[in-house]
Amino acid sequence: FFSDGSIWRPRNSREKLQKHLYATGGKVFTRFPPEPNGYLHVGHAKAMFVDFGLAQETGGYCYLRYDDTNPDAEKLEYIEHIQEIIGWMGWKPFKVGFDDASLFLYHTFFSNNVFECNGSDSFVLEMQITFSSDYFQELYDLAVQLIKRGHAYVDHQTSDEIKEYREKKLDSPWRDRPVAESLKLFDDMRRGMIEEGKATLRMKQDMKNDNFNMYDLIAYRIKFTTHPHAGDKWCIYPSYDYTHCIVDSLENITHSLCTLEFESRRASYYWLLEALDMYLPYVWEYSRLNVSNTVLSKRKLNRLVTENWVDGWDDPRLMTLAALRRRGASPEALNAFCRGVGITRSDNIIRMDLLEHFIRDDLNKNARRSMVIITNFKDSVVEELEAKSWPEGKDGDPSSTYKVPLTRVVYIEKSDFRLVNSKEFYGLSPGKSVLLRYAYPIKCIDVIFKENTQEVIEIHAEYDQAKTTKPKGVLHWVAEPSAGVDPLKIEVRLFDKLFLSENPGELDDWLADLNPNSKVVIEDALAVPALKHAKIGDKFQFERIGYFCVDRDTTAEKLVFNRTVTLRSSYPK
Ligand code: ATP
Ligand code: MG
Ligand code: MG
Repeated sequence: FFSDGSIWRPRNSREKLQKHLYATGGKVFTRFPPEPNGYLHVGHAKAMFVDFGLAQETGGYCYLRYDDTNPDAEKLEYIEHIQEIIGWMGWKPFKVGFDDASLFLYHTFFSNNVFECNGSDSFVLEMQITFSSDYFQELYDLAVQLIKRGHAYVDHQTSDEIKEYREKKLDSPWRDRPVAESLKLFDDMRRGMIEEGKATLRMKQDMKNDNFNMYDLIAYRIKFTTHPHAGDKWCIYPSYDYTHCIVDSLENITHSLCTLEFESRRASYYWLLEALDMYLPYVWEYSRLNVSNTVLSKRKLNRLVTENWVDGWDDPRLMTLAALRRRGASPEALNAFCRGVGITRSDNIIRMDLLEHFIRDDLNKNARRSMVIITNFKDSVVEELEAKSWPEGKDGDPSSTYKVPLTRVVYIEKSDFRLVNSKEFYGLSPGKSVLLRYAYPIKCIDVIFKENTQEVIEIHAEYDQAKTTKPKGVLHWVAEPSAGVDPLKIEVRLFDKLFLSENPGELDDWLADLNPNSKVVIEDALAVPALKHAKIGDKFQFERIGYFCVDRDTTAEKLVFNRTVTLRSSYPK
């Protein structure tokens, strides 16, 4: 091993990678290794972009591997959701299988496990999802080998003692016990003969190293917990540090890509594989994705959900992929965002408006237009007009227009009327004309106030049937019920950032930073009747208001819309 600063690599690792690539027919094998302890978030979209994306770009393969070594936090619900949302993101995990006739895998633990080809190079592909827990038996057998080779020992220190000894760089009193004793005790651990917390298996690494992640990391601990995938078979579970590198090696991963917090664990990764004489994947780290005004850590997301600070894992204010989908973001937008952010090794916080920019950009091309009013007004005829569903048309879409009834009374937004006109105001004012979008110019000729107040309840206007006036301002509007056409009553949910400060995860009392106005519900918005055929997940631009998506809370009686993003960024530049 050599060390350049904090970055450790085994000698000749690049040459070894080249050799291995030769043996895999030049194919890149990666893996995306989520722990099924929560829903995936936008940070995982980046990890998938890296893992699946590299494999795709090079014609290689990427496994979905559930890194399920901690049964306390893991659940079947998460396992199922993760698979579904990866598919939604557009990624396909593949396994490389072997057609016995043409290829075989030369794969023993104590010689290098590499592929050997004899003639043809036809890989057999099948969708593949693996679980670290599927390798529990191999992992156990390898641990026995590790003990036999003198590289692991059963320890009885408590977690506090381990911590204290690590700080002092001191050996555990059990570090040099005979191999036979460790073998016997490890077997006792496996058979459930030792109580939880009374023994661990530790790797015999380097207590004097500069890197604290070489201080005899724990390989196995006792847990009398049922595992969501492996069931009740085991009462000892391998640690992340012990498992990840071995499973990478067993799966012939060529590029093991992970986030920077694992950098200091790379030394242990290579140490263990060398100690077992196993094939060494090439490890490389990149920076985690952080997004402003939100939290991404699954531990924090879990608290928000279980303590009901938000309404479930897919609450549209969260940055989980399920939430972003519900809010109306498309996988294309999220992947474009990942590409835009790039893969680097420098840590920073990406502003929420950059994510919104990519979502908006995609919706601008893909969301139908519709007119909706969030509050109210008045005046007109009875006529059916045509409005455009797509500003520039849309190839082959028969419904490129929709019908808009115009009646004597129409509603406009409250904010689109002012008693006192001004230069920068494009709305309606006494004596002024505006264009009702897709209809006629109207001119305000009178204003009716609520008795003894300044509150405007009616605006009287004349319409210009010949369309001779060309007003600057163009307003959206909906018609009052008349001649059998009702404006549609819909519920609209407007979302804002979930946290007030940019980096809430850093705060001691991060929950106190929640934005009390992150969700506003308007139960009586009005929309054009054509919208009533909208289905859950459909996306629209409500003209002049924003991009909206039909929420899954929609019922036969009531359509519910989530605002995905506003039309323009509302963030200060
Ligand atoms: P969390 O702290 O959110 O629980 P994690 O790293 O424990 O994150 P895993 O499910 O174990 O979550 O991660 C699966 C993969 O996704 C890992 O390779 C991890 O490095 C990567 N990943 C997790 N969070 C991010 C992020 N914010 N940005 C980029 N990659 C991430
Ligand atoms: Mg993890
Ligand atoms: Mg985690």
